[in-house]
Amino acid sequence: KAKSRGKSRLQFYDADILNERHKVLALRERLRAALRDGELSLYWQPQVDVERGYIPSAEALIRWTDRESGELIPPGEFIPAAEASDLIIEIDNFVIEEAVRTAARWATIWQYPPIVAVNVSAVHFQRREFVGQVRDILRRHNVSPDQLELEITEGVILGNNIEVTRNLKGLEALGVHIALDDFGTGYSNIAYLSQLKPDRLKIDQTFIASLSGSHQMESLVSAIIGIGKAINCEVVAEGVETADQLDLVRRLGCCLVQGYHFARPMPDAEFQAWRDANYPDAAASVKHLRRLG
Ligand code: C2E
Ligand code: MG
Ligand code: MG
Ligand code: MG
Repeated sequence: KAKSRGKSRLQFYDADILNERHKVLALRERLRAALRDGELSLYWQPQVDVERGYIPSAEALIRWTDRESGELIPPGEFIPAAEASDLIIEIDNFVIEEAVRTAARWATIWQYPPIVAVNVSAVHFQRREFVGQVRDILRRHNVSPDQLELEITEGVILGNNIEVTRNLKGLEALGVHIALDDFGTGYSNIAYLSQLKPDRLKIDQTFIASLSGSHQMESLVSAIIGIGKAINCEVVAEGVETADQLDLVRRLGCCLVQGYHFARPMPDAEFQAWRDANYPDAAASVKHLRRLG
């Protein structure tokens, strides 16, 4: 009797672990079906050049609209499940392709070709075929590489192995932009940073959130902006929600800003309407061309 109770308790314990594992596997299968059935789509969040007053670029953020429940599932709830498998490769390729297709369309309706920024998982940088795939997608949609920006995290460069270096070099040669996302939260090797030569650093939103009233955080953000300038790259402040935060980052020398203060991520049509209302085209195009020199 005692033995069987012990056994059932053991089974109970196993069942808990199995439950967790089943949940991840079940989520992953639902996600696979969602990708196949067209339930994944891109939302767009503008990146505002507050100095010149125009939109040089926008970030693609993936959304999953579950058809059964009608609910919108944020990436934080499903990207990790995908990242533990090859599914992340398929999802990111879908996102890159969608973003590039959008870039091609925007280039025809905006008076200048904006940059589309896409988040890619670290695993891609371990794959030989990655650069070739990106090149093919750009060719297929007839989009210039300098209209595409790939956002990577410090985790990618932490890998610092042959494959990662080869891929980063290949992307640079291809001419796509590289942005370092969530900057300041990882373990950046400053020496390697100057080799990598990213086009942009994105200051993590947690720094922006803790800005107000803290002189120490101000100095820290100022130092991060200094690093960006030292390696000759643009600095983007992420997660700017208030006018105060906007004033502060501007005063600290950062003129590229992204956050709810301007706009939340939106579906393409809504984004176009928002841009028409807030940043009408004609004036912007002159500024963009002037910036490109
Ligand atoms: P991230 O790339 O750092 O994206 C910024 C996140 O902050 C987005 O959350 C965005 O909606 C949110 N955000 C923007 N402005 C504000 C603000 O003013 N305040 C606050 N509190 N939040 C703001 P989201 O869309 O839920 O994405 C979360 C993360 O999921 C992203 O962080 C990125 O790491 C990942 N992700 C999103 N889309 C993709 C994708 O297509 N592929 C991959 N691999 N990862 C993705
Ligand atoms: Mg990002
Ligand atoms: Mg991120
Ligand atoms: Mg970020």
